[in-house]
Amino acid sequence: MKNPKDHLAQTLKKARKGKGLSLDKTADLTGVSKAMLGQIERGESSPTVSTLWKIATGLDVSLTSFIEPKSPHSAATLVRTADDIRQHPAAEGLQIAPLYPYDAALGFEYMELTFESGYERLSEEHAPGVIEFITIISGAMEVLSDGTWHALSEGQSIRFAGDAPHGYRNKSQQPAKVLSVIHYPYLNP
Ligand code: MN
Repeated sequence: MKNPKDHLAQTLKKARKGKGLSLDKTADLTGVSKAMLGQIERGESSPTVSTLWKIATGLDVSLTSFIEPKSPHSAATLVRTADDIRQHPAAEGLQIAPLYPYDAALGFEYMELTFESGYERLSEEHAPGVIEFITIISGAMEVLSDGTWHALSEGQSIRFAGDAPHGYRNKSQQPAKVLSVIHYPYLNP
C-alpha cells in the first residue's frame, strides 16, 4: 500500500484543484493554515485527525477519503479487522479505523473511533443534512448535541445532526471505543 502521507497529499491536491481553489481560499474554507496545507500537499506533514476533519468538512469531502484510497462501490462480502487498520496520526487522543470508507452510492462512511481519556473535540458543522450515528462498543463518553452533553455508556447509541454544533469528549479514565456512521446526503469524493 502507498505511503499514507502520499495518499493524503494526492487526495487533498485533487479535491482542492477539482474545486478550483487556491491554497489561500482553502485555508479560509477549512481554518487550516496555508503553510500547513502546503506541507500536507507536499507529503511533508502527518496532520492530526482534527486537522484532517477540518479540511474534509471545509472541502465537503469525507474524512475516510483522506485515509484510505476509495474503492469502487460493491456489495461483496468484506471482513475488516479494526486492529489491523487503526491509524493514530500525529500525537492526538483520537484514533481512527476506516472500516468502510465513504461510498457515494451509499452516502455514508463507517468508522471505528477511539477517544482516549481526556480527549475533547468540538466538531466543525458539516454540510447541510449530514447526520451522525455513534454506538459505544466499550468505555463511556459524552456527545454534545442541541447544547447538551449526552452521557453514553457501553451498548448505547446516539443519532444527532452533524450540520449543527456538536462535540465529543471522554472524561473517563479509560479509552472509549465507538462505531461511527456519518451520512452525507450528497455526492462527494
Ligand atoms: Mn462531526
